[in-house]
Amino acid sequence: MAIEWKKPAPGHEEILTSVSAECTRFECEKCPGLFTRDDYPNRFIMCVHECHRVMTDVSPECEMGECGKCSGTFTREDYPNQSITCIHTCHGLKDGAVTHLRD
Ligand SMILES: [Zn+2]
Ligand SMILES: [Zn+2]
Ligand SMILES: [Zn+2]
Ligand SMILES: [Zn+2]
Repeated sequence: MAIEWKKPAPGHEEILTSVSAECTRFECEKCPGLFTRDDYPNRFIMCVHECHRVMTDVSPECEMGECGKCSGTFTREDYPNQSITCIHTCHGLKDGAVTHLRD
């Protein structure tokens, strides 16, 4: 599965998303959610396999640089029943550190 490069907000690092080897084999309970790959040894990649049932995007608040107003999850009019996890770098997804996203 190809890695999808998310466009970063200005001044922020890009976030890599893909599906982990565990999830590719449907060993979903073993997937840590964040993983590394040999071809990107210094980057953490967020697993976006459907089992996680997580939609990810950057919230409007974070997009405008008002990170203090972002709670970490948000909803959008086009997905009214779906909670979307904000993957803006301000929530702690950084190089060299595995940090769980806020609930
Ligand atoms: Zn999975
Ligand atoms: Zn996974
Ligand atoms: Zn932010
Ligand atoms: Zn945010």
